[in-house]
Amino acid sequence: MSDDPDRRSPADLSSLFLGPKAENADVFERLLLEAFRDHVFWRRNFHPEDGFTIREQDKFTPGYQASIATLSQELFGLLAELKDGVPFFSPRYVGHMASDPTMASLIGYIATMLYNPNNVAAEGSPVTTRLELQVAAQLARMFGYRADRQWGHLCSGGTVANIEALWVARNLKYLPVALRWGAEELGIASLHVVRPNGERARLDDLGVWELLNIAPDAALDAYDAFGRATGDPQVAAAAVARHGISGLGYQAFGLRLAERFGDALPPGVVLVPSTAHYSFAKACRVLGMGESHLLRVPVDTHFRVDTDALEEILHASAAQHRPVIAAVAVMGTTEEGAVDRLDLIDSARVRAGRRHGLAFYLHADAAWGGYASAVVRATDGEKLSFEAVSQGQPAGALWPSESVYHAFAALDRADSVTVDPHKLGAVPYPAGAISFRDRRVRGMVSVDAPYLFHEGDSDTAYIGRFILEGSKPGAAAASVWMAHKVLPLDATGYGRLIGESARGALALHAALGSCDLAPFRLVLLPRPDVNIVCFAIGHPEFEGLEESNELVDRVYRAMSIGGGRPLRALDYLVTKTVLLPREYGHAADPVVEGLGFTHDDYLRAGGVAVVRCTVMDPFLAARRGNTDHIAGFIATLERVLNAELAGMRAPASTP
Ligand SMILES: *Cc1c(COP(=O)(O)O)cnc(C)c1O
Repeated sequence: MSDDPDRRSPADLSSLFLGPKAENADVFERLLLEAFRDHVFWRRNFHPEDGFTIREQDKFTPGYQASIATLSQELFGLLAELKDGVPFFSPRYVGHMASDPTMASLIGYIATMLYNPNNVAAEGSPVTTRLELQVAAQLARMFGYRADRQWGHLCSGGTVANIEALWVARNLKYLPVALRWGAEELGIASLHVVRPNGERARLDDLGVWELLNIAPDAALDAYDAFGRATGDPQVAAAAVARHGISGLGYQAFGLRLAERFGDALPPGVVLVPSTAHYSFAKACRVLGMGESHLLRVPVDTHFRVDTDALEEILHASAAQHRPVIAAVAVMGTTEEGAVDRLDLIDSARVRAGRRHGLAFYLHADAAWGGYASAVVRATDGEKLSFEAVSQGQPAGALWPSESVYHAFAALDRADSVTVDPHKLGAVPYPAGAISFRDRRVRGMVSVDAPYLFHEGDSDTAYIGRFILEGSKPGAAAASVWMAHKVLPLDATGYGRLIGESARGALALHAALGSCDLAPFRLVLLPRPDVNIVCFAIGHPEFEGLEESNELVDRVYRAMSIGGGRPLRALDYLVTKTVLLPREYGHAADPVVEGLGFTHDDYLRAGGVAVVRCTVMDPFLAARRGNTDHIAGFIATLERVLNAELAGMRAPASTP
């Protein structure tokens, strides 16, 4: 397990996956068998003097034989049923954000699963907890976080990562108030904090609005000072629990705020792009913030946060004294893969601090796009310039675009990043991750369990006390670790793999934009930021947007699993989504107008439906194999369009 493997030649993309025709079956089989045999030896060699619990004679008993017969028979049944699964491995699958896992990740997972480590505490996972922390450090390095300050871990997915980020953000927001009350109780002289405008102030001198506008770093500095003043971090933590929102809960905390400071403030809000993943609604509900305090910021016609609108909302929040708990940038929206301009969002945060004294937490939801940011990292960990990233690329298929480059390059300015190895990292589920810029945030959420915590252990012996989940698969950590070994988190590794898929998406986008499917007309969403291509479908005889939406729905049904159709009847698989007025506002107008309709038509129809294609195949643009999948997709689409239009026109058949 070397940390410095031979990197003289970057991995050839042909070596990464089992392959659409299981072309790498021999390697895969050899390594799996190796892993299993090695595990068998491990068992045999652990106290061989113990002898055998299961004897050969046992195997002749009817009960034994019946049980093994059931095992075998049911496995054969399961294997047969699994054939109804989804062919994520095939270039013909351009549906959801799902990928074929890399061989490294699958073999790492299966090999480790035999040992079944539990990464809640290193006691049950001496090897894989170490691997998990290494993986977290690798992700932090990709985002540009300092190695000696970052904290991160794996979790079940982006949903849990987003909940944990907002949990930290919420507790940090109210920390200065808890510190003030804690210091009062313990008779500690007032602590100092740095305000967003750069001034130093005593906590005791601040009003409630100022206390709720201390930037995350400054609040953590004050917490450190409090710990030093009490002389015992445990005493400090207990005081913060007694006076903070974690211990008191929203209701008691809110009452105390009103009691001590007179006017209660309006509830704190979380700003998310209007297209944000629904996990933020879950997070707000779970954390007791109330979904009504999720404030949706409009997006522009590229489906990225409209930073002018964001700035207006920040201004209004300052004017109304409405605390902002956090702002979220989405690096790769779930619907269309749009990458928010994190750099501009952070600049707006800095300006709001200077001008209005507003401070809040900034979280990047890069569940989808996080691994794509590898493209801005050199092998030595340095940030590559846009010129270096774009060097040698044809202008028409340039990826990432300059905007996307600047957004990815600014990830180190976020307080935390959600990233899903089980999405663009191409590893098996469950593997999400959260990365924090400042490891001190752990104090915001730590909970101890006496049966897992042992005095004198290192602070990472038992990571369960710093994270939302409890038991979790060490196999997932080994899987991600193996994946990163074969494909490092830099421009030569994941940057290249995802770059090839993105260029495939650009090629598909260009081909769909220029193909002639008359009388049908495809109205494409803008050039994809990463690898998702979406389009609406028009026809000159459609009198309402509803007809266009119905056709998209029929195309989706004809080109996806369901309806009792055998899988082999499907040539290509897509998915669809609906751009809803309450989420997209005027951002969808160019699409609606491209179909020949107006904003009012859009409101009346309740949305505009688009076919959604996620390109994961790194060889799509290279057109390997016997089938040109771009031409093939367009030919299938044309056939389906004609058949489905005829279906729409046919009088409803009476059964
Ligand atoms: C998929 C996704 C999530 C949720 O991640 P899970 O792993 O499904 O829990 C959150 N945010 C974005 C942008 C996503 O694409």
